[in-house]
Amino acid sequence: MRKIAIVGAGPGGLAAGMILSKMGHDVTIYEKDGIVGGRSKALKLGDFRFDAGPTFLMYVEILEEVFKKSGYDLHKELNLLPIDPLYKLVFPKVTFEPTNDKLNNKSMYDAYIKGLGDAYIKWYDDQKKKFDTITPLLLRPFDSLFDYLKPDTLRAIPSLQLSKTVYTSLKKIHPNPEFIHSLSFQAKYLGMSSYQAPAGFTFLPFLEHGFGLYHVNGGLNMINEKMAELFVKNGGKLILNAPVEEILVEKKIVYGLKVKGITMKFDDVVINADFSYAMTKLINPKHLKKYKPEKLAKKDYSISTMNIYLALDKVFDIKHHQVVFSNDYDLYLQKILNNEFTDDLSYYIHNPSVMDDTMAPKGQSALYILAPVPNLRSKVDFDTYKLEVEEMLYKSIKERLGIDLKPHIIDKLIITPKDWQDDYNVYLGAVFNLSHKLSQMMHFRPHNKFEEIKNLYLVGGGTHPGSGLPTIYQSAILLKSFIKPAEKNS
Ligand SMILES: Cc1cc2nc3c(=O)[nH]c(=O)nc-3n(C[C@H](O)[C@H](O)[C@H](O)COP(=O)(O)OP(=O)(O)OC[C@H]3O[C@@H](n4cnc5c(N)ncnc54)[C@H](O)[C@@H]3O)c2cc1C
Repeated sequence: MRKIAIVGAGPGGLAAGMILSKMGHDVTIYEKDGIVGGRSKALKLGDFRFDAGPTFLMYVEILEEVFKKSGYDLHKELNLLPIDPLYKLVFPKVTFEPTNDKLNNKSMYDAYIKGLGDAYIKWYDDQKKKFDTITPLLLRPFDSLFDYLKPDTLRAIPSLQLSKTVYTSLKKIHPNPEFIHSLSFQAKYLGMSSYQAPAGFTFLPFLEHGFGLYHVNGGLNMINEKMAELFVKNGGKLILNAPVEEILVEKKIVYGLKVKGITMKFDDVVINADFSYAMTKLINPKHLKKYKPEKLAKKDYSISTMNIYLALDKVFDIKHHQVVFSNDYDLYLQKILNNEFTDDLSYYIHNPSVMDDTMAPKGQSALYILAPVPNLRSKVDFDTYKLEVEEMLYKSIKERLGIDLKPHIIDKLIITPKDWQDDYNVYLGAVFNLSHKLSQMMHFRPHNKFEEIKNLYLVGGGTHPGSGLPTIYQSAILLKSFIKPAEKNS
């Protein structure tokens, strides 16, 4: 049995805790907050409950696997509700409501422009093939450069379309802007624009169209609460309000943690806290080489978000998941690409109260608006801009959706990139971590078995395979490749 510490009870840390404790290890999770979940935790305003970050679950198979490997059945533990339609996409010229029914979506695109449905079918079938070849690369570790020579990597190279971006790859199928944007806005899930994201990622919307999206009763934060409960049931120790001050290393080997000034010894340490934050704040730079603070400062980071959580006195006719695209979406993408601010914002509205009456008191709703904005490298002063952005969003919702939210606000909370940095320990407030450009992916992303310090492991959005919930859960599953079950070790 190994004595293992995990730094952080976000989705990555909790999934790792569940699996490692089931393997028979003595696992302790130290979480700085009073509740679990990190960027995915529950936020409360009186009787109103919000998801701080993630609002939908895609590619549920990976979470099912986490539960299975921990000795549980996901569907017996949590109530997953399909989101149908997947979302409503509001463009200035047209509105789309795709579902996970291929033929329904074909008709939807044909109703807009005759023949666009055929382009959609071509896209769908191409993505199915891409999904089958790229997924194996995301499911296994990428510790060695020789991994690029393995048969599954070589097979995937044509699908990765190395010279193309998500945008140029879609444009080749059909040049209609609404077609392209409706199948590429998902690059924002990686904190990138479709002009930047490598073409391999066009399979992201396929995960939605092919497998569907899910809400969890009570919000996605309930996944974390359930994982914490099952981790403890598996024998794990969860210590809340326990910020880790230092990860202790000697001769390139980790030997413990410092928490509240006390040194605690461990055989292994797993970092779930944001990778670049942990490297700059928790490890003495003398132990680091590739990931020294000055080297991290030169890396590419995702965009950030400004979130407005509103307690409202009624339930509005807004889908669970709604995206409003800027009037000039191309210009908006260019600006985001340059980490610049624009007043023609695109934004996302989350309105779970239309399908879940546990989020707010009867007849009322808990709604959040998310605007992708530059990270803190941009030098935008969000203390000043947040009020301006807030007004901009209410005005746009009134003009574009005909809904005046302001008179219905009972209470509100705003989170800016600076808050993500200061309260959630996220480097530069870049909530989707190191960007997913090819030179920061797979072997070139920090390894799950950390390459610079022995017995130190990484889970979460800053390591391989990447920053969405399914890939974060997968990073925890990958620990099984390095840490053997207790009986073989002790
Ligand atoms: C606004 C927003 C919307 C998102 N939407 C989606 C979505 O819909 N779908 C999706 O798949 N993904 C989404 N994501 C991305 C991603 O799924 C979440 O950010 C996810 O919570 C990241 O998980 P993590 O485990 O990597 O890190 P975190 O959630 O940040 O967890 C890290 C944990 O470490 C703790 N910690 C930090 N420092 C210390 C310390 N010194 N000592 C002890 N503990 C510490 C933190 O408190 C936290 O609990 C979204 C993210 C954001 C911010």
